[in-house]
Amino acid sequence: MNIGCVKEIKVNESRVGLTPKSAKVYIEHGHQVFIEKDAGLASGFSNEDYLNAGCMIYSDPKDIWKDSDMIIKVKEPIKKEYPYFKENLIIYTYLHLAADEELTKALVERKVTAIAYETIQDETGLPCLRPMSEVAGKLSIQEGARYLTKHGELGILLSGTQTVDAANVLIIGGGVSGTAALSLAYNLGAKTTLLDINENRLIELKEKYPKLNTLISNEENLVNGLKDADLVISAVLLPGAKAPKIIRKEHYQFIKKGAVLVDIAIDQGGSLHYSRPTTHKDPIFIEEGIIHYCVANMPGIVPKTSTLALNHQTLPFGLKIADNLKEALANEAILKGLNTYQGYVTLKVVADLFNLPY
Ligand code: NAD
Repeated sequence: MNIGCVKEIKVNESRVGLTPKSAKVYIEHGHQVFIEKDAGLASGFSNEDYLNAGCMIYSDPKDIWKDSDMIIKVKEPIKKEYPYFKENLIIYTYLHLAADEELTKALVERKVTAIAYETIQDETGLPCLRPMSEVAGKLSIQEGARYLTKHGELGILLSGTQTVDAANVLIIGGGVSGTAALSLAYNLGAKTTLLDINENRLIELKEKYPKLNTLISNEENLVNGLKDADLVISAVLLPGAKAPKIIRKEHYQFIKKGAVLVDIAIDQGGSLHYSRPTTHKDPIFIEEGIIHYCVANMPGIVPKTSTLALNHQTLPFGLKIADNLKEALANEAILKGLNTYQGYVTLKVVADLFNLPY
Protein backbone atom coordinates (compact mmCIF):
# COMPACT_ATOMS: atom_id res chain seq x y z
CA MET A 1 0.00 0.00 0.00
CA ASN A 2 1.09 3.63 -0.51
CA ILE A 3 1.47 5.36 2.83
CA GLY A 4 1.78 9.13 3.09
CA CYS A 5 2.88 11.36 5.94
CA VAL A 6 2.29 15.09 5.57
CA LYS A 7 3.65 17.99 7.59
CA GLU A 8 1.31 19.06 10.39
CA ILE A 9 -0.21 22.43 9.59
CA LYS A 10 -2.17 22.98 12.79
CA VAL A 11 -0.83 26.03 14.70
CA ASN A 12 1.96 25.19 17.19
CA GLU A 13 2.13 21.53 16.14
CA SER A 14 5.70 20.29 15.56
CA ARG A 15 5.27 16.53 15.90
CA VAL A 16 5.28 14.24 12.86
CA GLY A 17 3.21 11.11 12.25
CA LEU A 18 6.10 8.84 11.21
CA THR A 19 9.69 8.67 12.39
CA PRO A 20 12.26 7.41 9.84
CA LYS A 21 12.52 4.21 11.90
CA SER A 22 8.76 3.58 11.74
CA ALA A 23 8.72 4.40 8.02
CA LYS A 24 11.44 1.78 7.49
CA VAL A 25 9.32 -0.88 9.21
CA TYR A 26 6.37 -0.13 6.90
CA ILE A 27 8.74 -0.37 3.91
CA GLU A 28 10.08 -3.71 5.18
CA HIS A 29 6.45 -4.91 5.16
CA GLY A 30 6.31 -4.17 1.42
CA HIS A 31 4.68 -0.71 1.54
CA GLN A 32 5.87 2.52 -0.10
CA VAL A 33 6.21 5.56 2.16
CA PHE A 34 5.92 9.18 0.98
CA ILE A 35 7.04 11.99 3.29
CA GLU A 36 6.43 15.69 2.81
CA LYS A 37 9.68 17.66 2.62
CA ASP A 38 10.74 18.97 6.07
CA ALA A 39 7.84 17.21 7.83
CA GLY A 40 10.17 15.78 10.48
CA LEU A 41 12.54 18.72 10.95
CA ALA A 42 10.97 20.12 14.13
CA SER A 43 11.08 16.65 15.67
CA GLY A 44 14.76 16.30 14.81
CA PHE A 45 14.48 14.17 11.63
CA SER A 46 16.02 15.45 8.40
CA ASN A 47 14.84 14.71 4.86
CA GLU A 48 18.01 12.67 4.49
CA ASP A 49 17.03 10.47 7.46
CA TYR A 50 13.80 9.60 5.63
CA LEU A 51 15.60 9.03 2.32
CA ASN A 52 18.03 6.68 4.08
CA ALA A 53 15.05 4.80 5.50
CA GLY A 54 13.80 4.26 1.94
CA CYS A 55 11.06 6.91 1.79
CA MET A 56 10.23 9.16 -1.16
CA ILE A 57 10.22 12.89 -0.41
CA TYR A 58 7.40 15.00 -1.87
CA SER A 59 7.43 18.77 -1.88
CA ASP A 60 3.69 19.27 -2.36
CA PRO A 61 1.36 17.74 0.26
CA LYS A 62 -1.42 17.66 -2.35
CA ASP A 63 0.50 14.98 -4.26
CA ILE A 64 0.97 12.88 -1.12
CA TRP A 65 -2.78 12.92 -0.43
CA LYS A 66 -3.42 12.05 -4.11
CA ASP A 67 -0.94 9.14 -4.29
CA SER A 68 -1.58 7.59 -0.88
CA ASP A 69 -3.96 4.83 0.24
CA MET A 70 -3.26 5.60 3.90
CA ILE A 71 -2.29 8.89 5.55
CA ILE A 72 -0.53 8.80 8.92
CA LYS A 73 -0.63 12.06 10.89
CA VAL A 74 -0.60 13.41 14.44
CA LYS A 75 -3.48 15.88 14.70
CA GLU A 76 -6.86 15.90 13.01
CA PRO A 77 -6.94 17.12 9.39
CA ILE A 78 -7.82 20.78 9.18
CA LYS A 79 -10.24 22.41 6.75
CA LYS A 80 -7.60 23.10 4.11
CA GLU A 81 -7.02 19.34 3.89
CA TYR A 82 -10.68 18.23 3.49
CA PRO A 83 -10.65 18.59 -0.33
CA TYR A 84 -8.00 15.84 -0.42
CA PHE A 85 -10.31 13.26 1.18
CA LYS A 86 -11.32 10.43 -1.18
CA GLU A 87 -13.31 7.20 -1.02
CA ASN A 88 -11.59 4.38 0.92
CA LEU A 89 -8.62 6.53 1.93
CA ILE A 90 -7.46 5.44 5.39
CA ILE A 91 -6.59 8.28 7.77
CA TYR A 92 -4.80 7.20 10.93
CA THR A 93 -4.32 10.03 13.46
CA TYR A 94 -5.76 11.77 16.56
CA LEU A 95 -9.27 12.85 15.52
CA HIS A 96 -11.42 13.95 18.53
CA LEU A 97 -14.51 13.88 16.27
CA ALA A 98 -16.99 14.66 19.05
CA ALA A 99 -15.51 18.15 19.06
CA ASP A 100 -15.57 18.60 15.26
CA GLU A 101 -18.84 18.30 13.34
CA GLU A 102 -17.43 19.72 10.11
CA LEU A 103 -14.58 17.21 10.00
CA THR A 104 -16.92 14.32 10.81
CA LYS A 105 -19.25 15.34 7.96
CA ALA A 106 -16.35 15.67 5.52
CA LEU A 107 -15.05 12.18 6.41
CA VAL A 108 -18.52 10.65 6.03
CA GLU A 109 -19.35 12.43 2.78
CA ARG A 110 -16.07 11.33 1.16
CA LYS A 111 -16.37 7.77 2.58
CA VAL A 112 -13.01 7.93 4.33
CA THR A 113 -11.91 5.12 6.66
CA ALA A 114 -10.86 7.15 9.70
CA ILE A 115 -9.09 5.41 12.56
CA ALA A 116 -8.47 7.55 15.65
CA TYR A 117 -5.51 7.00 17.95
CA GLU A 118 -7.49 8.15 20.96
CA THR A 119 -10.27 5.55 20.65
CA ILE A 120 -8.08 2.47 20.08
CA GLN A 121 -8.67 0.50 23.25
CA ASP A 122 -7.08 -2.74 24.42
CA GLU A 123 -6.79 -4.55 27.74
CA THR A 124 -4.26 -1.92 28.92
CA GLY A 125 -6.62 1.01 28.29
CA LEU A 126 -6.01 3.65 25.63
CA PRO A 127 -2.51 2.78 24.40
CA CYS A 128 -2.14 5.64 21.89
CA LEU A 129 -3.33 8.31 24.32
CA ARG A 130 -1.20 7.12 27.22
CA PRO A 131 2.21 8.36 26.00
CA MET A 132 0.95 11.94 25.65
CA SER A 133 -0.53 11.89 29.16
CA GLU A 134 2.80 10.65 30.45
CA VAL A 135 4.65 13.45 28.67
CA ALA A 136 2.16 16.05 29.97
CA GLY A 137 2.48 14.72 33.53
CA LYS A 138 6.26 14.89 33.50
CA LEU A 139 6.22 18.34 31.90
CA SER A 140 3.80 19.60 34.55
CA ILE A 141 6.57 19.22 37.13
CA GLN A 142 9.33 20.61 34.89
CA GLU A 143 7.27 23.65 33.90
CA GLY A 144 5.74 24.06 37.36
CA ALA A 145 9.22 24.00 38.94
CA ARG A 146 10.28 26.79 36.59
CA TYR A 147 7.48 29.06 37.85
CA LEU A 148 8.36 28.29 41.49
CA THR A 149 11.63 30.15 40.81
CA LYS A 150 11.81 33.88 40.14
CA HIS A 151 10.34 33.19 36.70
CA GLY A 152 7.27 33.28 38.94
CA GLU A 153 6.93 34.68 42.46
CA LEU A 154 8.01 32.28 45.21
CA GLY A 155 11.72 31.94 44.36
CA ILE A 156 12.04 28.36 45.61
CA LEU A 157 13.84 25.27 44.41
CA LEU A 158 11.48 22.31 44.00
CA SER A 159 13.91 19.82 45.51
CA GLY A 160 15.19 22.02 48.36
CA THR A 161 18.75 21.47 49.63
CA GLN A 162 20.44 19.46 52.40
CA THR A 163 19.37 22.11 54.89
CA VAL A 164 16.32 23.78 53.29
CA ASP A 165 12.90 22.22 52.84
CA ALA A 166 11.76 21.02 49.42
CA ALA A 167 8.56 22.41 47.88
CA ASN A 168 5.14 20.99 48.71
CA VAL A 169 3.53 19.48 45.63
CA LEU A 170 -0.17 18.54 45.58
CA ILE A 171 -1.26 16.25 42.73
CA ILE A 172 -4.98 15.75 42.16
CA GLY A 173 -5.71 12.59 40.15
CA GLY A 174 -3.41 9.54 40.19
CA GLY A 175 -4.01 8.23 36.65
CA VAL A 176 -1.48 8.21 33.81
CA SER A 177 -0.51 11.89 33.89
CA GLY A 178 -0.83 12.26 37.67
CA THR A 179 1.42 9.25 38.24
CA ALA A 180 4.01 10.57 35.77
CA ALA A 181 3.97 13.92 37.62
CA LEU A 182 4.22 12.16 40.94
CA SER A 183 7.18 9.99 39.93
CA LEU A 184 9.15 13.07 38.91
CA ALA A 185 8.22 15.25 41.89
CA TYR A 186 8.80 12.40 44.34
CA ASN A 187 12.16 11.41 42.89
CA LEU A 188 13.32 15.02 42.88
CA GLY A 189 12.67 15.08 46.62
CA ALA A 190 9.54 17.28 46.70
CA LYS A 191 7.11 16.69 49.58
CA THR A 192 4.33 15.14 47.54
CA THR A 193 0.65 14.60 48.32
CA LEU A 194 -1.72 12.80 45.99
CA LEU A 195 -5.52 12.95 46.06
CA ASP A 196 -7.71 10.55 44.11
CA ILE A 197 -11.29 9.33 44.41
CA ASN A 198 -10.16 5.77 43.68
CA GLU A 199 -9.03 4.16 46.93
CA ASN A 200 -7.42 1.13 45.25
CA ARG A 201 -5.29 3.43 43.15
CA LEU A 202 -4.11 5.25 46.30
CA ILE A 203 -3.14 1.94 47.91
CA GLU A 204 -1.17 0.86 44.82
CA LEU A 205 0.70 4.18 44.67
CA LYS A 206 1.47 4.19 48.40
CA GLU A 207 3.08 0.77 48.02
CA LYS A 208 5.27 2.02 45.19
CA TYR A 209 6.09 5.41 46.75
CA PRO A 210 6.22 4.85 50.53
CA LYS A 211 6.93 8.50 51.45
CA LEU A 212 4.01 9.73 49.33
CA ASN A 213 1.11 11.24 51.27
CA THR A 214 -1.96 9.56 49.73
CA LEU A 215 -5.40 10.88 50.61
CA ILE A 216 -8.90 10.34 49.35
CA SER A 217 -10.10 13.30 47.29
CA ASN A 218 -12.72 15.12 49.38
CA GLU A 219 -13.36 18.71 50.42
CA GLU A 220 -11.42 18.57 53.69
CA ASN A 221 -8.31 16.95 52.22
CA LEU A 222 -8.39 19.30 49.25
CA VAL A 223 -8.52 22.43 51.44
CA ASN A 224 -5.71 21.15 53.71
CA GLY A 225 -3.61 20.23 50.69
CA LEU A 226 -4.14 23.63 49.08
CA LYS A 227 -3.07 25.48 52.26
CA ASP A 228 0.37 23.82 52.18
CA ALA A 229 0.96 23.58 48.44
CA ASP A 230 3.56 25.54 46.48
CA LEU A 231 2.76 23.65 43.28
CA VAL A 232 -0.61 22.06 42.47
CA ILE A 233 -1.05 19.70 39.51
CA SER A 234 -4.61 18.91 38.48
CA ALA A 235 -4.64 15.68 36.44
CA VAL A 236 -8.22 14.53 36.79
CA LEU A 237 -10.31 12.77 34.19
CA LEU A 238 -13.82 11.35 34.24
CA PRO A 239 -13.86 9.25 31.04
CA GLY A 240 -16.20 10.62 28.40
CA ALA A 241 -17.14 13.69 30.44
CA LYS A 242 -15.97 17.28 30.80
CA ALA A 243 -13.30 17.73 33.47
CA PRO A 244 -14.84 18.16 36.94
CA LYS A 245 -14.24 21.61 38.53
CA ILE A 246 -11.89 20.65 41.34
CA ILE A 247 -10.64 24.05 42.53
CA ARG A 248 -13.60 26.39 42.76
CA LYS A 249 -13.71 30.14 43.48
CA GLU A 250 -14.16 29.62 47.22
CA HIS A 251 -10.95 27.57 47.41
CA TYR A 252 -8.68 30.43 46.31
CA GLN A 253 -8.68 31.98 49.81
CA PHE A 254 -6.72 28.92 51.00
CA ILE A 255 -4.00 29.02 48.31
CA LYS A 256 -0.62 30.73 48.93
CA LYS A 257 0.01 33.90 46.91
CA GLY A 258 2.58 33.07 44.23
CA ALA A 259 1.74 29.36 44.25
CA VAL A 260 1.65 27.65 40.84
CA LEU A 261 -1.39 25.75 39.56
CA VAL A 262 -0.95 23.51 36.50
CA ASP A 263 -4.22 22.37 34.91
CA ILE A 264 -3.35 19.35 32.76
CA ALA A 265 -7.07 18.69 32.28
CA ILE A 266 -7.46 21.96 30.36
CA ASP A 267 -7.99 19.99 27.13
CA GLN A 268 -11.17 18.55 28.64
CA GLY A 269 -12.53 21.97 29.58
CA GLY A 270 -10.30 22.66 32.60
CA SER A 271 -10.62 21.76 36.26
CA LEU A 272 -9.86 25.09 38.01
CA HIS A 273 -12.17 28.06 38.46
CA TYR A 274 -10.07 30.46 36.35
CA SER A 275 -8.77 27.96 33.77
CA ARG A 276 -8.61 29.05 30.15
CA PRO A 277 -6.37 27.50 27.48
CA THR A 278 -2.92 29.05 27.07
CA THR A 279 -0.11 28.37 24.60
CA HIS A 280 3.60 27.57 24.91
CA LYS A 281 4.30 31.11 23.70
CA ASP A 282 2.37 32.62 26.59
CA PRO A 283 1.81 29.76 29.03
CA ILE A 284 0.72 31.45 32.26
CA PHE A 285 -1.68 34.03 33.65
CA ILE A 286 -2.24 35.30 37.19
CA GLU A 287 -5.56 35.41 39.02
CA GLU A 288 -5.91 36.31 42.71
CA GLY A 289 -2.09 36.42 42.94
CA ILE A 290 -1.82 32.78 41.88
CA ILE A 291 0.00 31.57 38.76
CA HIS A 292 -2.06 29.42 36.37
CA TYR A 293 -0.39 27.27 33.69
CA CYS A 294 -3.03 25.91 31.29
CA VAL A 295 -1.31 24.85 28.06
CA ALA A 296 -3.70 22.66 26.08
CA ASN A 297 -1.04 20.85 23.99
CA MET A 298 1.74 20.36 26.52
CA PRO A 299 3.56 17.61 24.52
CA GLY A 300 4.02 20.08 21.65
CA ILE A 301 6.99 21.68 23.41
CA VAL A 302 8.97 18.41 23.28
CA PRO A 303 8.16 17.24 19.74
CA LYS A 304 11.03 14.80 19.47
CA THR A 305 10.21 12.89 22.65
CA SER A 306 6.49 13.08 21.90
CA THR A 307 6.89 11.87 18.31
CA LEU A 308 9.04 8.93 19.42
CA ALA A 309 6.70 8.01 22.29
CA LEU A 310 3.65 8.26 20.01
CA ASN A 311 5.27 6.14 17.26
CA HIS A 312 6.14 3.38 19.74
CA GLN A 313 2.41 2.99 20.39
CA THR A 314 0.91 3.68 16.95
CA LEU A 315 3.28 1.55 14.86
CA PRO A 316 2.05 -1.96 15.82
CA PHE A 317 -1.62 -1.06 15.12
CA GLY A 318 -0.71 0.96 12.01
CA LEU A 319 1.17 -1.98 10.52
CA LYS A 320 -1.82 -4.28 10.98
CA ILE A 321 -4.05 -1.69 9.28
CA ALA A 322 -1.67 -1.23 6.35
CA ASP A 323 -0.99 -4.95 5.90
CA ASN A 324 -4.64 -5.98 5.78
CA LEU A 325 -7.46 -3.62 6.73
CA LYS A 326 -10.15 -6.31 6.90
CA GLU A 327 -8.09 -8.47 9.24
CA ALA A 328 -7.10 -5.41 11.27
CA LEU A 329 -10.75 -4.50 11.79
CA ALA A 330 -11.37 -7.99 13.17
CA ASN A 331 -9.03 -6.98 15.99
CA GLU A 332 -11.22 -5.56 18.76
CA ALA A 333 -8.75 -2.86 19.81
CA ILE A 334 -8.45 -1.48 16.27
CA LEU A 335 -12.17 -1.78 15.63
CA LYS A 336 -12.70 0.53 18.61
CA GLY A 337 -10.38 2.95 16.85
CA LEU A 338 -12.59 3.03 13.75
CA ASN A 339 -14.54 6.30 13.68
CA THR A 340 -15.91 6.54 10.11
CA TYR A 341 -16.26 3.83 7.45
CA GLN A 342 -17.90 3.69 4.02
CA GLY A 343 -20.06 6.75 4.63
CA TYR A 344 -21.07 5.90 8.20
CA VAL A 345 -19.97 7.13 11.61
CA THR A 346 -19.00 4.03 13.57
CA LEU A 347 -19.07 5.67 17.01
CA LYS A 348 -22.68 5.82 18.16
CA VAL A 349 -22.19 8.81 20.44
CA VAL A 350 -20.70 10.88 17.58
CA ALA A 351 -23.36 9.76 15.07
CA ASP A 352 -26.12 10.77 17.50
CA LEU A 353 -24.41 14.03 18.36
CA PHE A 354 -24.32 15.19 14.73
CA ASN A 355 -27.34 13.25 13.46
CA LEU A 356 -25.27 11.29 10.92
CA PRO A 357 -25.77 7.70 9.64
CA TYR A 358 -24.47 5.04 12.03
P1 NAD B 1 -6.51 9.01 33.74
O1 NAD B 1 -7.88 8.50 33.46
O2 NAD B 1 -5.36 8.08 33.59
O3 NAD B 1 -6.48 9.55 35.26
C1 NAD B 1 -7.44 10.41 35.81
C2 NAD B 1 -7.48 10.21 37.31
O4 NAD B 1 -8.30 11.23 37.86
C3 NAD B 1 -8.09 8.86 37.73
O5 NAD B 1 -7.20 8.16 38.59
C4 NAD B 1 -9.38 9.29 38.47
O6 NAD B 1 -9.72 8.41 39.53
C5 NAD B 1 -8.97 10.67 38.97
N1 NAD B 1 -10.07 11.53 39.36
C6 NAD B 1 -11.25 11.75 38.74
N2 NAD B 1 -11.99 12.66 39.44
C7 NAD B 1 -11.23 13.02 40.51
C8 NAD B 1 -11.43 13.91 41.61
N3 NAD B 1 -12.57 14.59 41.76
N4 NAD B 1 -10.44 14.03 42.53
C9 NAD B 1 -9.30 13.34 42.39
N5 NAD B 1 -9.06 12.47 41.40
C10 NAD B 1 -10.01 12.32 40.47
O7 NAD B 1 -6.32 10.32 32.87
P2 NAD B 1 -4.95 10.92 32.27
O8 NAD B 1 -4.57 10.14 31.07
O9 NAD B 1 -3.98 11.08 33.38
O10 NAD B 1 -5.45 12.33 31.75
C11 NAD B 1 -5.77 13.38 32.67
C12 NAD B 1 -6.13 14.63 31.88
O11 NAD B 1 -4.98 15.12 31.20
C13 NAD B 1 -7.18 14.38 30.76
O12 NAD B 1 -8.08 15.45 30.75
C14 NAD B 1 -6.34 14.37 29.50
O13 NAD B 1 -7.12 14.69 28.36
C15 NAD B 1 -5.37 15.44 29.87
N6 NAD B 1 -4.17 15.58 29.02
C16 NAD B 1 -3.78 16.85 28.77
C17 NAD B 1 -2.68 17.11 28.01
C18 NAD B 1 -2.27 18.53 27.79
O14 NAD B 1 -1.43 18.78 26.92
N7 NAD B 1 -2.80 19.50 28.54
C19 NAD B 1 -1.92 16.05 27.47
C20 NAD B 1 -2.33 14.73 27.75
C21 NAD B 1 -3.47 14.51 28.54
